[in-house]
Amino acid sequence: MAFPVTRLRRLRRTAELRNMVAETRLTPDAFVYPMFVCPGEGVRKEVRSMPGVFNLSVDEAVKEAREVHSLGVASLILFGLPDRKDEVATGAWAQDGIVQQATRAIKREIPGLVLMGDVCLCEYMSHGHCGIVKASHAPQSLGAAARDAITAVAVRDGDEREKAIEKLAGIASRASEASYEIVNDASLELLARTSVSLAKAGIDIIAPSDMMDGRVGAIRRALDEAGYTNTPILSYAAKFASGFYGPFREAADSAPQFGDRRSYQMDGANIREAMREIEQDIEQGADMIMVKPAMPYLDVIAAARERFDLPLAAYQVSGEYAMIEAAARNGWIERERVMMESLISIRRAGASVILTYYAKEAARLL
Ligand SMILES: [Zn+2]
Repeated sequence: MAFPVTRLRRLRRTAELRNMVAETRLTPDAFVYPMFVCPGEGVRKEVRSMPGVFNLSVDEAVKEAREVHSLGVASLILFGLPDRKDEVATGAWAQDGIVQQATRAIKREIPGLVLMGDVCLCEYMSHGHCGIVKASHAPQSLGAAARDAITAVAVRDGDEREKAIEKLAGIASRASEASYEIVNDASLELLARTSVSLAKAGIDIIAPSDMMDGRVGAIRRALDEAGYTNTPILSYAAKFASGFYGPFREAADSAPQFGDRRSYQMDGANIREAMREIEQDIEQGADMIMVKPAMPYLDVIAAARERFDLPLAAYQVSGEYAMIEAAARNGWIERERVMMESLISIRRAGASVILTYYAKEAARLL
């Protein structure tokens, strides 16, 4: 039936009608609240680029966890800021690691709250990469690069010079790319060790975010061998190398000291590859899968929902949060309205679990 018999506006007339026919709903039990735990006592330090988000010492983290639980939010995901970093990420897998301490304290006080443990090495590595870094020998192309550099510097005028400088920047990044490597297979052992240590401390769900090949299988085997056959894995299966992670790196103090993460995180241009990543993780034993970031990758969430039957999570990342906060502070958008709209869009795309810095506030509104 077409217009005028059909009038779609009939069901939009009042808030009650709209609510009754809503196709997608948000509930606090679908939210996961990310928390950054740091050493010390009574520490509550706001992250500059993420107003309302804090680095919390263990005692403060327990208070925050209690509040999160009282709002009906299902789960917390913990990230750690260790007091020391090294080349083997000791802080990630040590039994007295900062996340392990926080886990034990929160579990003691609020046993009903589901705790997720982010498994990665970058926060604990002195170089800030997600795996073990090996310096590789300078390749021959460096000689050619040096010649290019000399040519570029010799150019003196205007436009030509601009171009030459741009070219130099390219040469520099190529050179540093060539001089180190994130070693995949050796990193798996540390990731597996970290996962077992977190499970031992009481983490309910292990969530690897490093994007090394084969990590889910390695972690599953290690958990099973250590007796944690019932601990599920939520894999950050399709994690894209993204500019939207900027504020997180400040929050978790995890910016790489050189280079970037494009050799292990996914290229934003690729959705078919994202499906392959997810498929691989499922084959290796992932119990839940995740797409990250959320809003710039809603099509990936929708495609994953269509294709796979596992519970699907999406991470509304720091940059998504920071953009909304910044625009709202300027009075350019209505904060609460945009917050809820961003969350419903992720839900509508097909994510059943949403990791979001808005978990507490959205739960209050629901
Ligand atoms: Zn990492």
